[in-house]
Parts: sequence; C-alpha cells; structure tokens
Amino acid sequence: MLESPITDHFRLQEDQKRALRRLKLHTIRDLLYHFPARYERAGDQTTVAGLVPGNDVILYGTIRKPETRRAWKSKRPMSEAWLEDGTGKVKLMWFNQPYIAKMLTDGVMVKISGRVEGGSSPYVANPEVVQVQSLPVGGTDTVFGDGESGDGLFAIYPESQGITSRWFRHAIAKVLKQVTTASIGDPVPEVMRKQYKLPALLTALVWIHQPKRQEDATVARKRFAFEEILLIQVLKQRERALHDTQATYPLPRIHEEIDTFVARLPFTLTTGQWHAIEMIASDMARTPAMSRLLEGDVGSGKTAVAAATAYGVVTSSPAERPSASLQVAYMAPTEILAEQHFASFCELFGHLPIQIGLVTGSGCKKYPSKVDAGKATKIAKKRLLAWVENGEIAILVGTHALIQQSVRFRDLAYVIIDEQHRFGTGQRQALARKDGPLPHLLSMTATPIPRTLALTMYGDLDLTVLDEMPPGRKPVRTEVVTANGRRSMYEAVRRELDAGRQAYVICPRIDEPDPSKALAVQTRSVKAEASRLQAQELKGYRIEVLHGQMKPAEKDAVMRSFLAHDVDVLVATSVVEVGVNVPNATVIIIEGAERFGLAQLHQLRGRVVRSTHQAHCFALTSEGGATTRLRAFVKAKNGFELAEMDLKLRGPGELYGRAQSGMSDVGMEALKNLRLVEAAREEAKLVLANDPLLEKHPELAHVLSLRATRIHFE
Ligand code: ADP
Ligand code: MG
Repeated sequence: MLESPITDHFRLQEDQKRALRRLKLHTIRDLLYHFPARYERAGDQTTVAGLVPGNDVILYGTIRKPETRRAWKSKRPMSEAWLEDGTGKVKLMWFNQPYIAKMLTDGVMVKISGRVEGGSSPYVANPEVVQVQSLPVGGTDTVFGDGESGDGLFAIYPESQGITSRWFRHAIAKVLKQVTTASIGDPVPEVMRKQYKLPALLTALVWIHQPKRQEDATVARKRFAFEEILLIQVLKQRERALHDTQATYPLPRIHEEIDTFVARLPFTLTTGQWHAIEMIASDMARTPAMSRLLEGDVGSGKTAVAAATAYGVVTSSPAERPSASLQVAYMAPTEILAEQHFASFCELFGHLPIQIGLVTGSGCKKYPSKVDAGKATKIAKKRLLAWVENGEIAILVGTHALIQQSVRFRDLAYVIIDEQHRFGTGQRQALARKDGPLPHLLSMTATPIPRTLALTMYGDLDLTVLDEMPPGRKPVRTEVVTANGRRSMYEAVRRELDAGRQAYVICPRIDEPDPSKALAVQTRSVKAEASRLQAQELKGYRIEVLHGQMKPAEKDAVMRSFLAHDVDVLVATSVVEVGVNVPNATVIIIEGAERFGLAQLHQLRGRVVRSTHQAHCFALTSEGGATTRLRAFVKAKNGFELAEMDLKLRGPGELYGRAQSGMSDVGMEALKNLRLVEAAREEAKLVLANDPLLEKHPELAHVLSLRATRIHFE
C-alpha cells in the first residue's frame, strides 16, 4: 500500500493534485513522510481583543466583507476580510491568494488559525480557514472533531496553495487507521531503536502526525532524523565500499616526485599545505583509489596542493608504457578559472616533457605549441580529444565540458574537481575508462562546511581541512556600516579607485519564496544600484553589472573586462562568490549584509584577500548597528567558525538549500546534532560491515532503493 499513488486512495480536486505534485508527494509513503511544520493546541484559541503580534492564534468568528484587491507595493492580487467575534474585529489577509476571498461569504462562521502580524494595527496573515456550524461559547468550548488528536494538539502542515492542513490531517488519519506494524515495516533495525530509544515506525508516524503531547512529536522527529541520516550514510558508504573494491593506480614513488616539485616553488609551503599533500600522497601510494575532500578558505593555497600531487602523477608512468605518463583531469567551475589554471599549470609544468590541454565550451588549447615551445596554441577540439584518448596529453584542464562531452582518457589516474559541489564520485566514474582502473579523486572547496554536513553530504569522502593562510597575507579590514557611515565609506572607495584599485559592490540576496522572482528582483536592484552609483557617489568611474540572469558568455565577458581593468567597479549579485581571482580588487561593499549567511559573507570577502595591498570589506546593514552575527563576521579569522555559527543561528536549510541536498527538513534539522550524525554514521558502518548486501535488512534495502531513484530524478 505504501508505494501506491495517493490518487488511488483519495478523490482529489485538480488544485489539490497540483499541490501534491508541487510538494513532490506521489505515494502514500510520501504522504506519511510529509511532516507537520508545527502544532496548534486548542488552548491557543483566543479572542480578537487578546491578539498579540507574533503569536499563533486560533479565532472563532464571523467573516465580514471578503474582497480581492491588489497589494500596495507589489501590486499582486490578494484577499482580505474581517473576522468579528464578541470582542472586536481583526483584518485577515492572504497574499497572492485572490481566490480565497471568492470562497468566503459575508456572515459565514469560521475557525481561523494563523500568525498575528503587524504592530499597532494587527492582522492575521495567510490564516487557514475552516467553516464551522457554531461558535464556541466563552472561548473554552471547542467544536473540533476533525483530525485533531484527542488532547487538542493538531498538526499544521507546511503551507501550500491548493491544499489545506485539514486535508492532510484527514488523509493521514485515514491511512494510519489502515496500516499495521507488520504492513508498514521499519527501515531502522530494532537493535538501533532500542539502543537510541527511538519509537518504531508506526508509533512514530502517529506521534508526529497526531501527538497527544509535544514531547511525543519531538521524539518522533528525532527518530525520523536518525532514519534519514542513517539512510544517507548507508547510501554514501555503500558507494564508497563499491569504489574501494575497484583497482586503481598505485603511485608508490609519489612522495619523491612531490619533493622535487615543491623545491621548485617560489614559496615555502604552509604546514597545512604539507599536511594535506602528505595525506593525499599516502592515499595515492596505495590502493584503493583516494576519495578526498579538501576544504580550505579562499586564498589558503589549494592550487599548490593540487599541483604538487598532480605533478607526482604525471611524472609516473602506466605499468605497460614506461615512457608515457599517467593523466590528470582538472575541472574548474568557470571558463576564466579554467584558463587561469591552465596558464599556471603551463608555467609550473613547462619544464617537463609533457603536454597540457584546455577544453571549455568556447574552444581548446594545447601546450606547448609546436611553433613556439614556450607558448600555448589554439587547437581543434577533435584533435585535442584524440590526443587525450591516446594518452599524449598528460593534464587536461577544463570546465564541466570535461564530463559533458564524452572525453576519453587512456590512463586517467587523478581527477581534481575545484569548487563544484554538484560533482563528485559520480563524475569520476563517468570520466574513468569502463575497463580501466578507478582514478584518484580530489574535490576542493572554499565553502566552509560544518562538520555534520560534510560527514553527511560528502559522507563518501575523507576530509582534509586547510585552516591556515600563507604568511604575510593582511587580513581584510572589515567594517559594519549603517546609513550615516555611507559618505565616508564612498570617500574611502574613491581613494582606492583613484589609487588604481578596483571594487565590488554586492547587492543583497532577496529572500522571496519564489526563487525565479528573487532573481528578477536582484537583477533589478543590481541595475538600479549601478545607475545610482554612476549618477552619484561613483560618477566618472567605469561601472559594470553582473547578475544571474545574464548568459554565461555575457558574464564571462564582463569578468574578463574586470580582470583586464577595463572596469573599475563591478556591481553584482552574489554570483561573484565562486568568481575569478582579480588581485587588483581591494574593496568589497556588501549591501544588505544581514540577509546573507555568515559563511557566504566570508566567501564574498574572500574575493579581495588575494591582493598584497590592504583590502577592505564594508558590510552595510539597515538593522541599526551591528548585530551579533555581523560582529562575528568582523572578528572571525576563518570560515569554519562562521559556518558552525550559521548552522546554529539560521539552521542548515537556510544555508544549503533543501533542494540542493535532496534532504528533508527533518534531516536538515538533524545536522545541528553532531552526536546523532556520528551515531548514524557508525551504525551505517556496522550494518554494512556485517551485511554488505543488506540481505538481513530488507526494509532498509527497499527504502534505500526508493531514495536512490528519487535523488537520481531530482
Ligand atoms: P585557493 O585555495 O583559494 O585556491 P590559491 O591556490 O589560488 O588559493 O592560492 C592563492 C595565492 O596564494 C596564489 O597566488 C598562490 O600562488 C599563493 N600561495 C599559495 N601557497 C602559498 C604559500 N605557501 N606561500 C605564499 N604564497 C602562497
Ligand atoms: Mg582555488
């Protein structure tokens, strides 16, 4: 029953069907795993006279004057009505939901539940409305009777147009009546439930949807959090175990080669870089293939780590071809970055008898050129790829064109992925020759990831953290600026520009529920701010814009002219986060800084640490002075502290986006709990060690197969 479509069990209206699709709820199992956002208690019921902004309330009363109108600022259609009870009346407003007013009629008796907003003139925003036959007397009597659990706690589901919490309560109650412990199974083995005192699946479902007490709901949520992390861990570790059984290229002499390379570098490696290189080299010296994540702030010198280890690879030969070299693939997030890395590899490896290739969407290059041995030359893609396939190109640098266009290698021993979170072990598999050994994988990121998240999302990778900066780097001078600090800020910016430096102006992320609208609003604010600056504070300087609605080629062109200093000021959305190294940019202004996550602010600030000049970061806030978060941002030395703080203050959903991770809200919440994550990880290891094919855990295996296909499709 659990895997059958919801539509087989319930008669649904079109808008309900649409709502379920939007929520990605297809089967009965999905429905049962659609958890309440919160609960309301019958006691939350109050009267209009007792409203306090910020509270969730339940009111009984009579609807008056329902009407549709346009919102004052956004001009979007909305509904309004008044609710009258014996003590007074209050306005009800439904944003973006003009149809609600049409469904209500003057004089109808209702129960509404929602949050009180507004200050001196409070209103209830987007309340849920249920028509009732009679009004309670004196505010104590309840006229419930549908879907609430006995003691008056009832579930409120995440908001969605077209389907009500009431529908969910009914539907889920109906399903829960039909299932039994035996028919529902349980992916969490009983031993684990006992050890961590977690309720069985059916109990937990009842507790989360129809709790008698808040504590029951809490325990149930914990169980589902554990379940989700366990599933992810088993999936990731099963993937890992699969890799570990495959042959790879062992590189027993890699340590010596790396020493030779490092001796040639123009700087001394930091202890952190040595440590990272050592870990990578030890992995590579033996089998199975390395699977490692290197996490280090912008500017911490990850490229040197990648280059040194790549050197060890290209100076080694495949067993059956002693005069050839093993191959390296290096994947960068943008064309400009790919070109920059190609150029630095040509410089670093130019003295070796090897060839280096570049493949991007807009063309290919090869080094050295036949005509001029010190230079790179353009080359047709077909020829380049033929040389990659026969093993003549030792290092191939590229954008994701590298994996999209069926590039075939002869002896690919090392895959390096720079700052591309969507790519990982799967892409390595795609690049590897089907019949050949599995290449080593190094994934690099400057995004500070809290430990729980790293263990979960990258659970199939070993982790190395580079938490040290090369010496002599001046920390960015960071200031929180409020409205009256603007003038002196722009003075400082003009001084920098006049001294020949460049600046970024970042416009805020817009926290709108609809991301496509957010993009449009951001674009507008970028354009508006650019013309404002051009007309006022930064008159006479060369200003360009960069935003997410531009085509990749347009973005590229703008970045190139900024890099070439044909542009002084780049007004941008946060797309510059994973941007290009522009050492001459020494100033970054972040508008609406309070809207960004701390880790993101830190990454934005990272755009200006490359320079040997003193760099400045101005974080603008309208929140009347420095908040705790912004003060932490000013003080923090590295991104990891900030990432952990973000996780505590804002929660992981805010930070990493649910869609991106494929995780549910409950799973996301679990990321705040390191002990739970570590426990689930250990349990997953144990299960797989004792039962690698999950033959003794059929229910777990079944749920995993569902999950695997789903992640695949999303
Ligand atoms: P990221 O970790 O952001 O990729 P990069 O590898 O681009 O950082 O390094 C940033 C800059 O620091 C580069 O110009 C690089 O040459 C330089 N660098 C790297 N390691 C050191 C070091 N140990 N000492 C001095 N400069 C270094
Ligand atoms: Mg880098």
